[in-house]
Amino acid sequence: MYGLGRLLHKRVTTTGNYLKRWPDTPRILVFGPPNVPVTKLSQRLAIDLGVPVLSMKNEFSKVQKYAGKNEYDHPFYQKVKDILDEGDQETISKEKIGLKLLRIAEYAQEGFVLNDFPKSVADAESLEELGGGMNAFVHVNMPEFFLAQIESAKYECSDCGAVYQREDIIDEDTGIVQKANYPADGFCDDCGSIHIKPATDPEAFESALKSYTQRKEELLDFYNYLGLLVDIDLRKGGLDDYERVKSNLQFNIKF
Ligand SMILES: [Zn+2]
Repeated sequence: MYGLGRLLHKRVTTTGNYLKRWPDTPRILVFGPPNVPVTKLSQRLAIDLGVPVLSMKNEFSKVQKYAGKNEYDHPFYQKVKDILDEGDQETISKEKIGLKLLRIAEYAQEGFVLNDFPKSVADAESLEELGGGMNAFVHVNMPEFFLAQIESAKYECSDCGAVYQREDIIDEDTGIVQKANYPADGFCDDCGSIHIKPATDPEAFESALKSYTQRKEELLDFYNYLGLLVDIDLRKGGLDDYERVKSNLQFNIKF
């Protein structure tokens, strides 16, 4: 932080110009393996930047649910619904469904934080057609062994999906620590529910990890080539690393 502050100070004093902190319409993608708090980090970032946090999975299911009704009452949405219902990933990419929905969504016009898209380089290429393209692709990572340990100690609120664990998780090799965060009173911190249950699911974890690994290399290569990659190894769990993620992003984001 100190180093960054000094550098910014230097830039301000040498140019004498106002230093812009963020792009006017920040379009930020966040990507990471299972058990890295991608959603929580995205939400915090979105609040700080004053933009919505989006999930393409949600955008797709809204169209599937509401096509033909209210604000989705346009033949375009029916066409999209048909394609999504078919479920062919290649066609969804080829038809640039993700891009088209972002382009017309009113709430996405001033920027967004998107945390479950692109799924492929074809998707990533299409996103670059939106305005001036994306401003950053943030990859947040932790060692695989550590992520597996988190999985084995996982509790989840069955009402809102908040994730907890009862004990600290420590990685001897890297010194990474994820602190226990189980609510002392037994009620979910996020929604107040009492339904916090053990949620270890090795099969779901393996499958999510596989899907992440398959996409990782090509997506990182693509965004590195465009100068948009912000690659961060988290050292702490939950939101304890948030300030580091934010300053790293701010320093590297493309205007
Ligand atoms: Zn909850």
